[in-house]
This record gives sequence, structure tokens and C-alpha cells, in this order.
Amino acid sequence: MRQSHMLIPTLKENPADAEIKSHQFLVRAGYIRQIASGIYSFLPIGRRVLSKVESIVREEMEKIGAHEMAMPALEPSELWKETGRWTTFGSELMRINDRHQREFALGATHEEVITSIVRNEVKSYKQLPITVFQIQNKFRDEARPRFGLLRGREFLMKDAYSFNESYESLDETYQKMFDAYSNVFRRCGLNFRAVIADSGAMGGKDTHEFMVLSEVGEDVIAYSDTSRYAANIEMAPVAAEYKKTNESPLTMKKTETPDKKTMKDVADYLGHELREGLKSIMFQVDDQFVMAVTRGDHEVNDVKLKNLYNADIVELASEEDTKRLLGTGFGSLGPVDVPEEVEVVADHAVEALTNASCGANEEGYHYTNATPGEDFQVHQYADLRFIQEGDPSPDGQGVIKFARGIEVGHVFKLGEFYSERMNATFLNDQGKAKTMIMGSYGIGVSRTLAAIVEQYHDERGITWPAKIAPYQVHLLSMNPKKEDQKELADDLYETLLEAGIEVLYDDRKERAGVKFADSDLFGIPLRITVGKRAAEGMVEVKDRATGEQSDVESSGITEYVN
Ligand code: ATP
Ligand code: MG
Ligand code: MG
Ligand code: MG
Repeated sequence: MRQSHMLIPTLKENPADAEIKSHQFLVRAGYIRQIASGIYSFLPIGRRVLSKVESIVREEMEKIGAHEMAMPALEPSELWKETGRWTTFGSELMRINDRHQREFALGATHEEVITSIVRNEVKSYKQLPITVFQIQNKFRDEARPRFGLLRGREFLMKDAYSFNESYESLDETYQKMFDAYSNVFRRCGLNFRAVIADSGAMGGKDTHEFMVLSEVGEDVIAYSDTSRYAANIEMAPVAAEYKKTNESPLTMKKTETPDKKTMKDVADYLGHELREGLKSIMFQVDDQFVMAVTRGDHEVNDVKLKNLYNADIVELASEEDTKRLLGTGFGSLGPVDVPEEVEVVADHAVEALTNASCGANEEGYHYTNATPGEDFQVHQYADLRFIQEGDPSPDGQGVIKFARGIEVGHVFKLGEFYSERMNATFLNDQGKAKTMIMGSYGIGVSRTLAAIVEQYHDERGITWPAKIAPYQVHLLSMNPKKEDQKELADDLYETLLEAGIEVLYDDRKERAGVKFADSDLFGIPLRITVGKRAAEGMVEVKDRATGEQSDVESSGITEYVN
């Protein structure tokens, strides 16, 4: 491409709101432009890098037999009401009405849509398993959109969904997905870890997040320094506090807890916990879980409670009140706004609250209802919220370290949550109707792009890994007003194009200093400069990442580049 007629606006200064490098450089180098808070356009070179990441994701999905499809971004509210998520998803779900006042969600995720399709179209075990995916913009009204592409309100996601006839079959699909994700992030050149997700409150083994290690990450992971063990601790503040006092903060809070009588008391109490960064809280009476309140992903945690621990989830208030609480941002980061008059109605509620261990005591969490075989793991992960750096790793290998991570992918065994509520069944080999077993798997494609920049930059700009870079070669003519330079540069441009090399040609009539600065910002792996030695047929080649420089005979340029 010739740069002179391309929309690549570069900036000398960092945009005022850009706190982190990926945000600064992607804007300054003309990859993206903000349209509104958390909403971005990808300019031509931005679209190219996004496509590179997309292609890697697509290839790895197709390799494991997942098939690409496209679902609408407009999702009728009826579907979301079938699963209860119209209420429980809360204010993160963007909602709109059509001219007839019918309600729609702007797709934040597509479990409901895909389940509605599959329940109509798939009838027999012979058709299973089925895995489909799409790469599409998602909409989430994030409380705090920030960090450029890392937390947007409209962002590109790859979402995949699997339908299996049994949990064993789901395990196989999950493993394939897990491996595909590892390949994707490896091919993107990322330093990442697959971590056990939600470990703080839930333990368990059937959800993993892929975390790019980065200081700007919003998650904290605990990992072993000598083994592959890693888990999302989601509890940094609590853990830090614990470290200071060496006493469990929850135990202390428990003793301060007054008698709970109304939902408002509960909410105030839980609200505090939630603001501290706790994702889920369970009350336990004897060895039954009676309530789970979560920040975000309620449905997901319900499934886990149900499947992993076989727990009964009983609401403490009437269904309507609970929905109101969950739907009004209860559990979000902001202040909890719960009407005084909401009363606890379940008989065991007061008992639950009096005996509440919040799932925790000095030893950590109790998961007495864990399904046989799994106790061991559950207990190990369950104690994570009290883990400190330097503790022995739960797998017995090495010691625990903390690191910050950016969640770029998430694989999840959903089980029957959606299929049960939406009545997605199939006939098994005995001709009996069975509920489908589902999984869902997301990759933040645009977030991954930003995560790559977080790991690949220097003080002057981006230093893309070759597979992600918008072009392989940045060709500069230092002074296009000089005929010999212009001629040689034009020639080289044609030669490189013919050789199938992706080349961006800076043919602008700009000062050399401007061209070099822009080139460093863009981060294209190889820079070829046609300058003073053009008459001798010599050009200068520079490696963007290492800074290595050499003079090369222009006639041998394609061999050199390849
Ligand atoms: P987070 O914890 O960061 O809010 P999430 O757990 O809500 O993410 P998922 O529902 O697991 O996100 O969605 C799948 C993937 O989509 C995530 O792993 C992440 O890479 C990406 N993603 C989620 N929210 C955003 C966002 N606001 N902007 C960009 N990417 C996002
Ligand atoms: Mg989220
Ligand atoms: Mg998350
Ligand atoms: Mg997630």
C-alpha cells in the first residue's frame, strides 16, 4: 500500500485518557480511533492486525472441527427471559426497543441464540457432538470502560458453543478447545498462562481462563514457580489484607456481622464483600449451600454450584425480590441500592445468616458437597483466597507467586444450565429424550490484540511479532523528490509486491525524521530505507525489534526479506 493515500493518522502526543501503552500506541500509530467511551473504529492498518489475530483463531477453531457461523447481534428478549438472564445479566446488557416496543438485547454473548437454533434443528445423538463458533462484535455496557481495547463496550469476540450427549464427550471437546486456545495464544507470540478460574469462591476444575502476563492486567493469578499450576485468585485485596494481619478477614467480618433480618442488611453485608472484589458468596447451613450471590455471571456460578457440589440453591427472598436485587446492580461495584422493605422470606434465612460461614472459616472454604473424587481438588483450590506468596503450591510442586494477568480467553463447561431451561433435548441411542450438555468458549480478539502490544513495544512504539504485524516490510524513500531515490523505491515496491510480501510504502513527501518516527510507531518488523546510496543500488535494512541494521544490495532484496 502507498502511505500517501492511506488513512494512517499518527500523533506525537499520547491521548489524555490513555493510561497504558497499548492504548497510547494503537491510537498514536493510527490503528484505532475512539468514537465514544469504550467504542472504537479500526483504521486500515488496525483492521489488518485484527484480521491477523482473527485468522489465527479461525484456523485453530477449524482444526478441531468447530464450524464458523454468524448469529445476529440483535437478540429478542424472549430468549433471554427463558434462561432468566434478561434479569440476572443486569445493567451490562444493552437493551433496545423496536418501533413496536418489542425488547431486544445487543448481543453480549450468544448462549440463548445458539441453544434456540440447536434445539430446533438437532434431534438425535447421531448428530452430536456439534461445535460452532463466530467472530463478531459484542456489546457490554461495562461499568468502567477503559484501557482502550482491553475493556471496551463494543469489542470483537470469538465465541464458540458445543453440544454433547454426555459429560464425557464434553470433557473431550473441552480439552480440544483448551489445546486450541493454547495454540492461538502461542501463535500470537504471547507469554500467557492457563489458569483455573473462579478459584477464590468456587474452586473446581471445569473453567479455565487464559491470562496474558502483564502489569496492567486486572486479574491476579497465583502460580507455582516450578510447575504448571496456576489459578485466578480474584482476591488480591483480601489476600493482601490477610497477609498484613495474618488473620482471615472474613472471619473477622463474620464476628462483626449483626443479626440479619432484611434483605437490605444482607445486601449491605454482601455489598461490602463484593466491593472488596469478591465474586461469589455462598451461605452454608450444615452442609447445604443455601445461597449464592455473585458479581456478574450469576448463571454460570449457579451451574457450577449445581453440577460440582450438587448444592441446592434456595433464594433467601421471593423470586421477584431476588431478581430485583440482582437486576438493580446488586453485586456491581457501585453502592448497593436495596429497598428497605424487601424482607427475607425463606424460613431458613435467619439461620443461614446467623450460621453463615460465607463459605469460609479459618481453614478456608468448606465444600463438603463436592462430588466423589473431586474433593481433593476442590479443597486445594478452595483455600486459594488465603494463599500468600511463598506458600507451597497446592500441587506440591514449588512455591506460590502472584502475577497480574489480562484475561484473553475463557473456556467453560456449562453443563445443562441453558439446555435445561430452554428445553434443548435429543434422542439417545435408546430413543430416550436427554438434555444436551453444553460448553462455551470465548476469546477476546480485540483484547488479545491490545495484549500483544502490551508485551511487544519499546519506548518508540510497537514491535509486532511478524505473524501479527500489519505488513512485513515498511519501505521508506527518504527523499522522494530525488529522482534516483524515487525510482529505486518504486521499483522495490513493485518487486516486493510481486514476491507476495506485504509491504507498506512510505512515498510521502515528508521529512526523514517524521518518516522514521512514524515507522517506529507502526512496529512493522523490517524497515527498508532508500536513501543517499540509491544511485549505487544500496538500501538500508533495519530490524524494528532488535535495532540491527545492515546495508543490502537492492537487487537481492526479496531473498533478504524472505
Ligand atoms: P472480564 O472479566 O475481563 O470482564 P469476562 O469474564 O466478563 O471478562 P467473558 O464473558 O469470559 O468475559 O468473555 C470472553 C472473553 O471476551 C474474555 O475472556 C475477554 O477476553 C473478552 N472480553 C470480555 N469483556 C470484554 C471487554 N469489555 N472488552 C474487550 N474484551 C472483552
Ligand atoms: Mg466482564
Ligand atoms: Mg472474567
Ligand atoms: Mg470470563
